[in-house]
Amino acid sequence: MQIANELRAAIAQGELLLHYQPKWDATTGVPIGAEALVRWMHPARGLMPPDSFIPLAERTGLIVPLGEWVLYEACRQMRLWRDAGHGDWTIAVNLSPQQFVHAGLAQTVREALRRHELEPSCLILEITESTAMRDVELSLAVLRQLRETGVQIAIDDFGTGYSSLLYLKRLPATEMKIDRGFIRDLVRGTEDSAIVAAIVALGRTLNLRIVAEGVETSAQRAFLTQLGVDTLQGFLLGRPMTADAFIAAVSPVAPVAISQR
Ligand code: C2E
Ligand code: MG
Ligand code: MG
Repeated sequence: MQIANELRAAIAQGELLLHYQPKWDATTGVPIGAEALVRWMHPARGLMPPDSFIPLAERTGLIVPLGEWVLYEACRQMRLWRDAGHGDWTIAVNLSPQQFVHAGLAQTVREALRRHELEPSCLILEITESTAMRDVELSLAVLRQLRETGVQIAIDDFGTGYSSLLYLKRLPATEMKIDRGFIRDLVRGTEDSAIVAAIVALGRTLNLRIVAEGVETSAQRAFLTQLGVDTLQGFLLGRPMTADAFIAAVSPVAPVAISQR
């Protein structure tokens, strides 16, 4: 209860902030944008990760104003980056289940883009596979509405939920993010590598851009690139960081040499 009250005040008092984790083109090693990840700078507890307050925000309905703040803030930052010459970057924002089914979502998205004079295609909205599959007909309707605004859609944490392939085929998504659970123990010739190869093949068939999350080692990076993953994200190439740190840290990395394909 106390934290819920504090969180309500935190949104109004500007205690929330966004960190940005870079996303990279797997083959060229060029940065292609960022995922915005919310943090709460709590006056007594210090910097709090999203897992410590997003579930509470979900239960109390605070996720709607919180999510709106995140959208506007991410768009504001994207405007600054575009003005600084990064016109080809995209910004990804996570949507929670409650936010996803909230009636005002498409309108908020349009308004955030308009306020910061952004082309809709530079915004990627991430929903988890579980959210997308919870009520498939509703998800289809919401996603179509969102796609009509021109934004992109990513299916986050892919592989952790239960996807109906029939529905997956119909989802108007543009990107599939392989959950880092499959990347963690990735070694050639193991079960995880067979699963990742199968997810990549599935994503290709569905015309989705394939992102690997949680890339921590250069061996994972080389292997994922070889498997045909389009985009990489993970501590190896950049942790989530403040916008200031981001612009200083993010410059192209040397492409990986791919041996035999
Ligand atoms: P997510 O969307 O899957 O975000 C990726 C999470 O993986 C981030 O954790 C990131 O720091 C972490 N990560 C990235 N690369 C690596 C890596 O190489 N190794 C490891 N071990 N971890 C890595 P974070 O920032 O704590 O966020 C956790 C989750 O909280 C996010 O998972 C997302 O579901 C949720 N979240 C974050 N920001 C928001 C938001 O603004 N709104 C909503 N609704 N949810 C958010
Ligand atoms: Mg995400
Ligand atoms: Mg994820």
